[in-house]
Amino acid sequence: MRTVGIDLGGTNAYAVVLDDDRTIGHAKRRTPTDGGRNEVIKTLVKVADDALDDAGLERTAVVGAGVGTPGIVIGGTVGNASNVPGFDERFDLAAALHDRLDLPVRVANDVTAAAVGEHALGGGRGADDILVVFVGTGVGGGLMLGGVPFEGSHGGAGEFGHLVIRQGGAVCPCGRRGCVEAYAGRRAMELAAERAVAAGTPTVLFEVMDGKGKSRATSGVFKTALERGDELVADLIDDGIAALGAGIASTVNLLDLEVVVLGGGLADKLGESYLARVEAAMRPHLFLEPPRVRLVAAMLGDEGGAVGAALLARNVA
Ligand SMILES: [Zn+2]
Repeated sequence: MRTVGIDLGGTNAYAVVLDDDRTIGHAKRRTPTDGGRNEVIKTLVKVADDALDDAGLERTAVVGAGVGTPGIVIGGTVGNASNVPGFDERFDLAAALHDRLDLPVRVANDVTAAAVGEHALGGGRGADDILVVFVGTGVGGGLMLGGVPFEGSHGGAGEFGHLVIRQGGAVCPCGRRGCVEAYAGRRAMELAAERAVAAGTPTVLFEVMDGKGKSRATSGVFKTALERGDELVADLIDDGIAALGAGIASTVNLLDLEVVVLGGGLADKLGESYLARVEAAMRPHLFLEPPRVRLVAAMLGDEGGAVGAALLARNVA
C-alpha cells in the first residue's frame, strides 16, 4: 500500500512516499513565514507533489495522505500552533488538504506522528508501549500505548516537555516553572546562558555561535562549546540530563513503558554519551524492580514525522 506523509515544522516541511515499509520518494520545502494559512497549505500540497514526482508517481497512485503538524489536533482540525502562520486559530486542515489533494487525509500532532514512525520502523520497533522524546529547540513527547497513538481527551497528551520536575523551578518557555523543557530545551539553555553571562559567568558559547555564523545557539554550537571544555555549557547540559532522567522515570513509573526513544537535534548531536547519561540519570528514580525499560536512540532522523504521517494515512484509506 502506498501513502504520502508530510511533516510540517516551523522551519521546513518534509514529505515522503511510503510503499509498504520503504520510502520511495522524498521532498523538502521551507515553511512560509508570511502569507498566512493559505500559503502554508499551498506549500504542503507542493511538497507532497514533489515527493510523488521524486517517486515517479501521480496522486492517483497513493491511497491517502497523512500530515504531522505542530499544535493540538482534534479530529482533522488543528489549533494552538504559534510557530506556523495562521495555525494558532483552530481550523479544519484535513478538509482543506482533501479539497486540494483529492485524497483522504489524516492529521496528527507532529510528535505523535514521529512516535508512530519510531514505533513501526525505528527505535521502538517490537514494543507496544513507548514514549518518544525529542530534545531540540523545545522538548516534545509522543505516546504509543497498546500499539496505538494516545492523544488524550482533548488532543493534548504527550506534553512530556511540560512535566514539572522542580516545583517553583526555572521559568519554561511556556511561561510556567520547573518543566523539563525549562532545563533540557535548547532555547531555555540559551536564555540561561545569556542570564549567566549578564551575571559575569564566563563562557565561549556565544563566541562559538558567532564563529559559526549562527544567530542562535544551535545544537552544533552547544556541542562545540562542550568539546572546548566550557564549564557553563557543561553545567547546563548536566541540568538538562538530570531533568530528562527525572521526567522519563516519572513517565515510566506511571505507565510501565517498554521502550523510551530519545531523539531530536540536541540528542542527535551529542550522541551515544548523552543517551547513556540520560539513562544513568533515569535509573535511580525507577520504581519497578528489576527495571525493564529500555532507552534507545531515535532512528528515523528528520524524516520520522513524515514516515509516521504516511503510516497514519493507511487508516483513512
Ligand atoms: Zn513548560
